[in-house]
Amino acid sequence: MAQQDPLIAQLIEAFRALPSIGQRSAQRMAYHLLQENRQAGLNLAKQLTAAMEGIHGCEVCRDFSSQPVCRICSDAARRQGQVCVVESPADCLAFEQTGVFHGRYFVLMGHLSPLDGVGPDELGLDLLQKQLASGEIEELIIATSSTLEGEATARFLVQMAGSAGVKTSRIAQGVPLGGELGFVDGMTLAHALSGRRPV
Ligand SMILES: [Zn+2]
Repeated sequence: MAQQDPLIAQLIEAFRALPSIGQRSAQRMAYHLLQENRQAGLNLAKQLTAAMEGIHGCEVCRDFSSQPVCRICSDAARRQGQVCVVESPADCLAFEQTGVFHGRYFVLMGHLSPLDGVGPDELGLDLLQKQLASGEIEELIIATSSTLEGEATARFLVQMAGSAGVKTSRIAQGVPLGGELGFVDGMTLAHALSGRRPV
């Protein structure tokens, strides 16, 4: 078999960076764009570059944002003192889609996982600590997942908020065990939020 053109091989390899994309799917995507839709390919390249270079963490909540402070954290109509702690930007999106939450978020970008080297610093908890200490947070709503790591993270957050004298609540169960919030339907999530209990 002749060697594949290196530029095509590199394109296929680049597609393999996407989750659950193997060699065959990557090949299909590369050939599709080259053969059928070069304009879409160019647009994809442009948007990828813009997003990868222009999206960083919000200085207040760590959610993805193209501005130093994201739209939610700079929205005066939101209750900035009510902070919902989630594991990922996808979780924020899930809450936003329910339309029932009017506070803001704090995005951990993971959960405590000592074996993987993920400790409080990696989750930005020093930043959250400052916000708790400054008195700007009235209620911390903990919406980490119901996995073992998510629960351990929740306990850690309860202690942190407790020593700062900030009241905490945990969203109600009904979110499937081990489920990621991003995949829970809006109704379930809205109920979990309204049924949150003090912890
Ligand atoms: Zn923000």
